[in-house]
Amino acid sequence: MLDLRSMAVLAGVSLLGSACGGSEASAPDKDVTGMTYEEFRKVTFQEPESGVFIAFGDQAYESEELLREAFEQANSGLGTQRGALAVYYSGGQDVKWSASAALNITYCVSSKFGNNYSKVVSAMNTATGAWEGAGRINFIHVSAQDSNCTARNNNVVFDVSPVNVNGQYLARAFFPNSSRRSRNVLIDNSSFSSGAPGLDGILRHELGHTLGFRHEHTRPEAGVCFEDNQWRGLTPYDSGSVMHYPQCNGTNTWNLTLTNLDKQGAGILYP
Ligand SMILES: [Zn+2]
Repeated sequence: MLDLRSMAVLAGVSLLGSACGGSEASAPDKDVTGMTYEEFRKVTFQEPESGVFIAFGDQAYESEELLREAFEQANSGLGTQRGALAVYYSGGQDVKWSASAALNITYCVSSKFGNNYSKVVSAMNTATGAWEGAGRINFIHVSAQDSNCTARNNNVVFDVSPVNVNGQYLARAFFPNSSRRSRNVLIDNSSFSSGAPGLDGILRHELGHTLGFRHEHTRPEAGVCFEDNQWRGLTPYDSGSVMHYPQCNGTNTWNLTLTNLDKQGAGILYP
């Protein structure tokens, strides 16, 4: 997820979510080590409508139990796996779409975006196109569902909807194993402000999560912003990855484009 605290993000504080320095209560590049769970819970944002917890920038946890589990893993020690683009790895397997599902990832774009609607449609086209060119992946905008584009719409795999969380994050997404109720890409109003990173880049990053990719900065080579060990490296570590927060010792910019290693990794996961 990307968490943008107004200009703080551009200054290197936080990107798409919150744990990596997202909320004003947490310091830049601070991981959860050294915090008690209660302290961590206190600075973790909970979406008012869905009840979903957001931590580590833009990572969504559907229950407090899952949030606690993530906290415990983050505190269990630095990551030791080597492997750049990292796929979410849980229960002994990659968290990814099946080959057929990956070719039919349908979504709607809520008409509630109002004046920003066409901007979102266009940015989604650009961002989905970047991933589609890298692997056997196909996102499909089902515009007929745009007027009923909510987390309860089962005619699409996910919805792209507006949210107003006052910059708690710029946007947040989900992983392939998320249930429908949290399977949405939520874009905060702050993403449309003049100081925000480009929407194309924000969405390229978020769509990476929807395909199963974890934050690249959770890898030990980043040295900061460790999250947990539930990932498997698909390529060598890539400090320029679209999935790497620039403020976590990244070498990329807020343009958030796919590097060659990102494309390679997507091709490996979705050959
Ligand atoms: Zn993210």
